[in-house]
This record gives sequence, structure tokens and C-alpha cells, in this order.
Amino acid sequence: MGGSIFLKVQDVQQLLEFDRTGMIEFAKGLGEKPFRATQLFRWIHQRGMQDFEHMSDLAKSLREKLSTTAFVQPLPLLAEHRSKDGVIKWLFDVGQGNAIETVYIPESDRGTLCISSQAGCAVGCTFCSTGYQGFSRNLTTAEIISQLWFAEHTLRQQQAKGDKESRVITNVVMMGMGEPLQNYTHLVPALKIMLDDHAYGLSRRRTTVSTSGVVPMIERLGLDAPVALALSLHAPTDALRDELVPLNRKYPIAQVLDACRAYLRYAPRDFVTLEYCLLDGVNDQEVHINALIDLLRPSKGANFPCKINLIPFNPFKESGLKRSTNAHIKRFSDALLDAGLVCTVRKTRGDDIDAACGQLAGDVQDRTAISARRAQGKVIPIANALT
Ligand code: SF4
Repeated sequence: MGGSIFLKVQDVQQLLEFDRTGMIEFAKGLGEKPFRATQLFRWIHQRGMQDFEHMSDLAKSLREKLSTTAFVQPLPLLAEHRSKDGVIKWLFDVGQGNAIETVYIPESDRGTLCISSQAGCAVGCTFCSTGYQGFSRNLTTAEIISQLWFAEHTLRQQQAKGDKESRVITNVVMMGMGEPLQNYTHLVPALKIMLDDHAYGLSRRRTTVSTSGVVPMIERLGLDAPVALALSLHAPTDALRDELVPLNRKYPIAQVLDACRAYLRYAPRDFVTLEYCLLDGVNDQEVHINALIDLLRPSKGANFPCKINLIPFNPFKESGLKRSTNAHIKRFSDALLDAGLVCTVRKTRGDDIDAACGQLAGDVQDRTAISARRAQGKVIPIANALT
């Protein structure tokens, strides 16, 4: 895992890298007891403290050891954009010319943080701005959790109303840049930190991993860190999904739905959220509605336990795709509801700062050369793949 600008500096350990088990191991290496690791963990994640000197209940000898062996450093902030509707988008430097984006979406009853898991993405979905940039590298655990650390403690300070410790972020969605299940090794410790009562104490139901369908990792996630699951479906047939979500060529729809169904044995909810981005003339026609209903409510066999989230497409220049009309979106949604499916239409937030779903672009040094292949016409254009 090369490339992190802040994982280790001359063998000084970045402590944002550790879940509590890792922190206990690290403390052991310093000759310290596990409860000291928990104290340290709480200072870092619950109180946002970077300076060991201010961790007042740690012994002076431990603080001195930490000052020469460890550091706590969030990602450098490159830019902040605030939308008219309260959404905030942060751009963070992850080194070597790469930058990632994180989005905060405030609502009356919750604060949701949309976190990135990779610099770029290798899946290359045709309707996703990140997918157009190609892939540079996986983020480390520290780089993933740093986004939550920064957002939580920055917003807490800005919004403090006398109570500096009340939580701002109540929900996390791993729906930013990247396919989280293709960065499994670093994702799982980050999820454990999010869920840990000595850190952010997020509920499993309010922590969501969204995947394009990395089948083997869906099952492992159920065993390692069962949280809410969302699947980027976007098409009801393999022929169309092969083009919209190229990973479908490896893991076709039936396999992915089976893996999701099996995941529900471990999940904190009894359904999977299905994301369906509505693209004008591509996947929003009568034939797609009927195919989707047949897929999820088959005349033979069991219904698929799901809630469908219809996402109006947020256009960006390179895609050549258009948002479905409001009439089409309504028709689509009404037909699913009439068929007995649970379905909502996602409200677009933050589109004036390009922070809406599918618009995250950051800055990626593409090592997969997908952008060059697209420019040479070597990636099948969506217009040829409408069935
Ligand atoms: S939608 Fe998700 S999986 Fe697909 S390219 Fe974008 S970030 Fe990657």
C-alpha cells in the first residue's frame, strides 16, 4: 500500500490507523495496559484531541513515549464548498496529486456523512463522475476514518451550543468515491472505529456500505462488520447492467442478489437498499419498470427483501447522459409502489457545489488509464447498450 502521505513518518505511527484492537496491540508494544489504549482511543475519536500533552488522564511517562512514537494527523484540507441547502463538500489531499471528496448532508433529524474509500474507482460506472476518472489507489484506514474525524470535530466546534461533546454525525454512508468492498482490508477497521462506543458509537443501522456488487466480500462483511447494505443496481437485466456497472460482467445480477439475501442473516436491517439512478431513455422506460418488478417480485420464487431508492441522475459533461424527466420519475416510482415495492425518490442535495450523488470527482491520477481508453472509444458507449 504505497502512497499515503501520512501513515508513517520515519517509523512514527499514525494512530488514526488503528481500531481498538490495533490500539491495544500498539499500547502493548509500549509496555502499556489495554485500558490505556482505550483512554487514548477515546481522546482521539471522542474528543478530537491530537496533542498528547493535553490528554490529562494519561500518565506523563506515556505521554512522553507517545510524543516520540506516534502522531494523530487528519488529512490536509484543500478546499471547502458550502451549498445553499446546507450541504458541505470537503476536498482532501491524499498525496501524489490525488484528492478525495467527503460530503456532509444535514437534515432536521440527522447528520449524514458520505465518505470516500478510494482515490478514484476501478469499476467505471458510466453514470458516475468518479468512474470517469479511473483509479489511483486504495485509501488507508487512517485516510478513511480521518474524513469522519475531521467532519465530526470541525462541525462540533462550529455548531457548539455549550455542549462540545454532542454528536453531529449520526449516519455514515460509504457512498463517496470508490468501491468500498474493493478496499476491504482498510474498510473493516474503519467501520469498527465508527461503530465503537469508545469512538463514534454509530449504530449499525445508521452505517451503510454501498457496493456495486463485489460478491465474495459481501459475505465476508456480514461476518466481520455487519452494517446496513446498499446495492447499486441501476438496471434490471444483465445486458443493461453489464454496460452501466461493468462489474456485472463478473458478478451478474442473480449472483449479487443471492449474496445480498444471504447477507441479511447478519445485517442490522431486514432489507437491502437498492440504488437505481434514473437515466433518460436508458433505464427508465416501461420495459425496465416491468423487468425490475419481475426481478424483485417474481411470479415464482421468493420476493427480494428491499427498499428501492430512485436517484435522479446528476448530469456531468463527459457522460453524455441526461436526467429522466420528472414525469418519468413519477411514473417509475408509482409503478413500483403499485407492485407493492417500497420505493422513495432521493432528494437531490448539494448539486450547486457538485456534491450530489454521482458527482464526486476529487482529483485522481488515473493508473488504470480508463480515461484514455474512453477518449479512444475503447470503452463501449452507453448509446450502444440500451437493452
Ligand atoms: S458508482 Fe461507485 S462503484 Fe461505480 S464508478 Fe462510481 S464510485 Fe465506483
